Amino acid sequence: MLGRFGIIGNPLNHSISPLLFEGIFKLLNLDYVYIPFQIKEGELKPFFDSMKIKGFDGMNVTIPYKERIIPLIDEVDEIATKIGAVNTIHFSNGRIRGYNTDYYGFYKSIEEFKGRIRNSFILGGGGAGRAVLYALYHLNCKKIFLMDRNPSRRERIRKDFDFVPNLELIDWNCKLFLQIIEEVECVINATPIGMEGFQDSNPFDFNIPLKGKIFIDLIYNPSSTIFLSKAHLLGAKIKNGLEMLLFQAMKSLEIWTGIKTKKEDWEEVYNSIKQTGIKK
Ligand code: NAP
Repeated sequence: MLGRFGIIGNPLNHSISPLLFEGIFKLLNLDYVYIPFQIKEGELKPFFDSMKIKGFDGMNVTIPYKERIIPLIDEVDEIATKIGAVNTIHFSNGRIRGYNTDYYGFYKSIEEFKGRIRNSFILGGGGAGRAVLYALYHLNCKKIFLMDRNPSRRERIRKDFDFVPNLELIDWNCKLFLQIIEEVECVINATPIGMEGFQDSNPFDFNIPLKGKIFIDLIYNPSSTIFLSKAHLLGAKIKNGLEMLLFQAMKSLEIWTGIKTKKEDWEEVYNSIKQTGIKK
């Protein structure tokens, strides 16, 4: 049976999900399609309603709709409810269910650092920043700093994550950034700053020794942002968002179809996309 999947967002030119899913469907001989839908703000609800009629099975959701999609969903699972963001939707038996696989993707991607992270510092409190926060909470981080430039966003996070002990929300500020780096083992960029085509190139300038620290950027294109290359030069261990991307995609496919795939298959697909040039 033909499976119909896709992604909703705006803009969508940064997303490699269509290439990734089409690639994995081909590799595993699955008779499925994956279609990108760049939807304008006011069109989200009517578009979403039409999805059911058109017989779609599942959708990924990306910038800027991960939070705004929630009121349109019948059942949001416990993790996505806690995080307050949905990036995977499953249409099943006339119901729409919402999940957050960014959380799973990030959690799995940092398993190698388990036990080494006591205090963490997240830059950006959008959909991905919230998923990272929830994952760090589950990794028993002792203290989590989250920096975001938007006061109302900070206030919402404060309320939604009141179950997280020792969570400190901070305004966007270079001086504080440098101070907090000293206090933490792990710094995560969960903003689009540094992404291919994004106007700003680095969240903050920093020039301090970073030996023993872990710097993570959720961005995977480019594979090394200025944030990561600078941190690497200063002695930090670094990681980009590729593994997170692959793990969250694997989980989405499993939710939609029940099919469990291997990370190596996704890596193979990603490498072949890279060889032919990611114009995304
Ligand atoms: P989002 O919901 O739009 O949130 C972005 C956050 O970054 C917001 O808090 C935003 O603040 C902040 N921000 C944007 N531009 C900024 C600037 N110039 N200065 C300071 N703060 C700024 O996006 P998202 O879904 O969380 O995604 C964030 C990043 O993570 C993107 O690069 C995305 O590609 C990446 N990501 C990667 C994966 C993966 O699998 N590797 C998964 C999800 C996301 P404002 O609201 O004030 O703009």
